[in-house]
Amino acid sequence: MESESTPGARRPEPRPAPDAEQGGEPACLPALLCPACDAVPDEPAQAVCRRCGADLHPA
Ligand SMILES: [Zn+2]
Repeated sequence: MESESTPGARRPEPRPAPDAEQGGEPACLPALLCPACDAVPDEPAQAVCRRCGADLHPA
């Protein structure tokens, strides 16, 4: 029997399943870590690491 007092029972998934076909480089990362010191930038649009000064967006 289905109970109506179960909020969140069927909730639409906001983001689709990740593509597992690409095995080269990650398409999109939640947070762009510094390749040099693995520092997490405060802003996603940050171009240069504020810790070591490495380029977060080489391309
Ligand atoms: Zn860094």
